[in-house]
This record gives sequence, structure tokens and C-alpha cells, in this order.
Amino acid sequence: MAEHETSTAARTDAAAPAVADVAASEAAPPPFLPFALPDIDEAEIEAVVACLRSGWVTTGPATRQFEQDFRDYLGGDVEAIAVNSATAGLHLALEALGIGPGDEIIVPTFTFTATAEVVRYLGAQPVIVDVDPVTMNIDVGAVEAALTPRTRAIIPVHYAGLACDMDALLALARRHGLRVVEDAAHAFPTRYKGRLVGTLDSDVTVFSFYANKTMTTGEGGMVVTRDPELARRVRLMRLHGISQDAFNRYVSRTPAWYYEVVAAGFKYNLTDIASSIGIQQLRKIDRFWQRREQMALRYHEALDGLPLELPAGADTAAGNTHAWHLYPVRLAPQAEMARDELILQLSQRGIGTSVHFIPLHRQPVWRDACDLSPSRFPVAERCYERILSLPLYTKMRDADQDRVVAAVRELLG
Ligand SMILES: *Cc1c(COP(=O)(O)O)cnc(C)c1O
Repeated sequence: MAEHETSTAARTDAAAPAVADVAASEAAPPPFLPFALPDIDEAEIEAVVACLRSGWVTTGPATRQFEQDFRDYLGGDVEAIAVNSATAGLHLALEALGIGPGDEIIVPTFTFTATAEVVRYLGAQPVIVDVDPVTMNIDVGAVEAALTPRTRAIIPVHYAGLACDMDALLALARRHGLRVVEDAAHAFPTRYKGRLVGTLDSDVTVFSFYANKTMTTGEGGMVVTRDPELARRVRLMRLHGISQDAFNRYVSRTPAWYYEVVAAGFKYNLTDIASSIGIQQLRKIDRFWQRREQMALRYHEALDGLPLELPAGADTAAGNTHAWHLYPVRLAPQAEMARDELILQLSQRGIGTSVHFIPLHRQPVWRDACDLSPSRFPVAERCYERILSLPLYTKMRDADQDRVVAAVRELLG
């Protein structure tokens, strides 16, 4: 609003006729506010140009640097292995854990299809369970109820950027001898009881650097583990199962063309072009996080009193933080407008929103493959009908956010 007034005033000062100018600016619709935008500036552009000029564009020194920086950021005694997507990272994590046909892996229904799809890559069976009504994170009771003798692992998803009840999940996993792979696509950086996600006591944690995540490399991901055996397997399978050791051990004696393929691996390595972006993004991640947190608080305050259920915040007294990758709101039962209509009306006002997520049990592939009926997911069903994600990203200015708030207030107030 302030910006609109400023620009009108500025143009009125110029030679153009004031009346026509005001009319024109009123007729012009405000620019469309996208649901998400990456926060890229000259630092990333220069880093990519430098990478291109260097002549080394695939996995090399920048990727090694990015992995090192990421590990340093987490601060734990972990290894960080860069991959070309979180999906690839989840696949590699399950492969390294030896998941295969006949195994059952428990995943929440409120997630992106990648969480379940990787289970299928290995011929195992995803077992989809309901979520907690407050956080929309995996329901620990539902996990327990879904256990069978074939259950091998759980993939908790830190929905929107708020950590799951990891103490309860890890205790359950220990009691039943299960592996835990955290899908932390939304959770960088997120703290759980003072510790960063990535340094908790699960087997593997996987982060995403997809374009709309809290930091991006265009496409990319990071596999983090404290287990050196798992790290070795992930590194091996990330690049065709080519044993680096064979080369390194004999590097002084064998010619550079020699390598050994010791497993049928994958092509999941991250390029130095992408890693160059990642190094720069990582440097800003604390500032990004502070801005996201500030915007979430602004939404909390500005949307108070509307027929909306606002997203659960982190219990800061317990040492938790929220990454605020998403700001999902739910229409309260007394709201007079339906979710789909609200999305349409916001879009007509030039505001992009999204829905996170259409639950897996509603997607044809998982509904049919897992024989799922909506009645088994009462919480997710109730959430899904009423949920939408409002735009929240560091490129948004306060004025953009004010526009979102004003439109929501106009429609629901
Ligand atoms: C984005 C996302 C993924 C996949 O990340 P990619 O890097 O695009 O493979 C996995 N799980 C969740 C919950 C996500 O939101």
C-alpha cells in the first residue's frame, strides 16, 4: 500500500497529468504475488559464473566445499553427502539400510509423494498412517498401531518445518528394532530440544534444496548421517557404485583412467554448479530463518480473530524452533467460505497459495497400491479439506504480506 502511494506521488511530481495517472494506476491490477520464490542474488550468480569459468562443472571442489560447510553448520559429528534431490537422498538412505522386498516402511499421509515413492524403488511396501491434529506430523500412536513383524523403518516428515515428536519415535524404534530416516525437506534449520535436525539420534536425515525450500540449489539435497558405514554406502551408490577407495589407494601406481565398479549404483551426484549456489545460500541461512520467523509472527498477529486455525508454533521453552518452510492455515468450522473458494478468490486478488498436502491416501497410486480408504485417516481428512498454505518467503516484503492479510481479512472477516 505504502509503495503504491509512493509511486503515484512520484509520478504526480513528474510532468504527466495527475488525474490520468491516478486512474491508470487504479485500473492496473497489483502484480501477482507468487506462492514461493527463491532468494537468489548476485552472490549466487557470481558463484555460478565462477564455476562455469573454472571449467569444472560436475561434482568436484565446490561440492566438497558445500558438504564441508553443511557439516560445519550442523556442528555435530556427522557426515554430509550432497545429492541431486532429497528424493535421491531418501532412496540412498533406505538402500544403505538394506531395505528390500517384503519390508514395510511407515510414512505419514500428510507428505509429498517422494516420501512413499522411494520405498517402492526398493520393492518394499509403504505403510501410510494418520497424523497429529495439532502439528500434522506423523502420529506416534498410529505408527505403533501399524507395526507388523515386517516393519523395518519409519520415515517421519517434519511438516512445514516443525520437528516430529522424535523422542517418542526414537524410543518406539529402539523398542522394536526399527530404523529411522528423517525426511527433513522442510526442516532446515529446525531445532528439536536444542539440537539441530540432522544431529538427532536417527539413522539418516535428508534435506531438500528444491526451488521452493528454505534454501535452494535449483535441485539438490543433502544426506546426513553419523554412521560411517551408512555414509560410505551412500557415497558409493550416489555415483554408479564406483569405488573411490580402489582409485585412492593405488592413485600413485595406477593410471587415472582406472576405477572399479563394486555395485550397481545410481546417478545421484550434485553438480558443482548447484553446489556453488548452495555454498552462498548456506551463508545466508540464519538471516533467511530470522526473516521467516519474523513473518510467521506477523501472520500470527495479523490473522488473529479470523475463523482460521493458525499453524502450531515451536515450543521454544523446550528448545524447539520452527523452520517455517510453510505457513499452513486451516479454515475453522465456522468459516463461511470453503477452502477451494478461498484459494480462487485469493488468486483473483493476485495472491498465490498452495495446499500441503493432498494426503497420500487420496492419491490414486497409493490409494490403490495400499488399499486405503479415507475413513482410516480421520485427522488428515479433516485437515485436508480446510487447509491452505499462505505465501511466506524471504523475498516477500512486509507490504506483500500486508496484501495477503488484507485479502484474507476481506474474504473471511
Ligand atoms: C520437497 C519434498 C521432498 C522432495 O524433495 P526433492 O529435493 O524435490 O526431491 C520430499 N519430501 C517432502 C516432505 C518434500 O516437501
